[in-house]
Amino acid sequence: MKKTTENKYFDYWLSNDYFKTPRHYRALNFYLNTFCNKRCPECAVHIPKIKTPEHYSIEYIEHAASHFFGIEHVSITGGEPLLHPQFKKIVPHLKNWFGCGSLTLESNGYKLKRYKGLMKYFDDVMISHYPDNQDMVSLAKKMGLDGRPDGQTLHVTTARRARRPSICRRANFLMYVYGRVYPCACVPSGYASLGIPLTENWRREIAEVPMPCAECCFAEEAADETTVVPAIDKDLLSLHRSSVNYPGVREESRWPELRDDIKIYGLELDSWMAHEAIIHANQSAGEKVLRIHIESHIPEEFHPLTLSFMNARNDNIDSFIIRSQGSSWIRLDLSKYIAGHGEPRITMYCDKIYTGSGRNLGVRVCSLIYEEK
Ligand code: SF4
Ligand code: SF4
Repeated sequence: MKKTTENKYFDYWLSNDYFKTPRHYRALNFYLNTFCNKRCPECAVHIPKIKTPEHYSIEYIEHAASHFFGIEHVSITGGEPLLHPQFKKIVPHLKNWFGCGSLTLESNGYKLKRYKGLMKYFDDVMISHYPDNQDMVSLAKKMGLDGRPDGQTLHVTTARRARRPSICRRANFLMYVYGRVYPCACVPSGYASLGIPLTENWRREIAEVPMPCAECCFAEEAADETTVVPAIDKDLLSLHRSSVNYPGVREESRWPELRDDIKIYGLELDSWMAHEAIIHANQSAGEKVLRIHIESHIPEEFHPLTLSFMNARNDNIDSFIIRSQGSSWIRLDLSKYIAGHGEPRITMYCDKIYTGSGRNLGVRVCSLIYEEK
């Protein structure tokens, strides 16, 4: 394969394997655990919502590795893999167990110091860049490790939906978590039951799993109708629901079946709002408040901005002034939007976007959460 970057992970991320027929399965995202030491409200893999997180055992890892043996690339992820109590014992064996050509670690870096001697076993170490872990990012850079581009790691709000959904680059990686194989990072879309048990036939079986792009927060806007992925057939879902887990995985530790009952249309992949986004709230949430976490990334001198919120009849219900860059929380009383006509649809409008930097900068919607009044 032609090398496109200095980073193995990005070589696979940037490949177009997901467009090939039959699908190529060359790279795997392998979850070492579902524990994390952060609780990011917009965690796209819902780790903070897993009630009984788990560290997967060495037997579980070896069992999986024997089935994936020979796959080209493995990316170790979680949760936070460095929290695994047997990390030191596991890491030196991973390449041999998986028989893979390259190995990447994805981490938030908080425990990096403790395990820096083990980083030699990875081809790339990808540290998420958060506002509060810049020391770890600097340490990783000093160690020549940090494979992520500069800039903050942006999470995608799980409520995000595309109007015309198409497959995304996450389909370049298979995913293995709680004893199930997924055709991409589709668990966050709420279709945990789509995973198949790991058998010697996994390559054939995974190709039959329907892609839930139409309901997935990662789906991109299709360039044209030919690349729109149709909504999933619900009968196929119940078929996959009956599949069994790896025996060592506790039933209650499975990923919750999370399907956001708030949907927001009109955000780009990293959740930038241009001028307008449409929020569909749950009809039964009328007595609740919708809390929206936003960040303004527009240059400081273009502030203040005005965010307006309209109901389904385009009556202006709320307006908020954003005075400077950074985080804000907005609270909308949903009953005001539903009153009179009953439709829980909200149009969110921002009066400014900034196009001077070669891309549109605007308000970023980080998360949407229902709250009691
Ligand atoms: S650090 Fe990553 S895995 Fe942990 S809660 Fe945040 S986004 Fe989720
Ligand atoms: S289901 Fe989601 S993660 Fe998977 S390819 Fe489609 S858009 Fe990407």
